[in-house]
Amino acid sequence: MESKLAERIKEARGVTVIRSNERVFQVVAERHEYRIDLLSRECSCNNWGVDGFLCRHAIASIYCKGD
Ligand SMILES: [Zn+2]
Repeated sequence: MESKLAERIKEARGVTVIRSNERVFQVVAERHEYRIDLLSRECSCNNWGVDGFLCRHAIASIYCKGD
């Protein structure tokens, strides 16, 4: 059984992550750019946490951060 989170992790591999500083990342996906703040848990897609999971931009940022 594939969970929603596993599906999102898969999607997160296809995006480009640019690290702005310790907590802020920019993620480019489907020609759109999103701003992610890991500390305040915000993403400009406004989907962070709406269904109980991180949005894929946040997942990509966390992967980029490496922890
Ligand atoms: Zn997002």
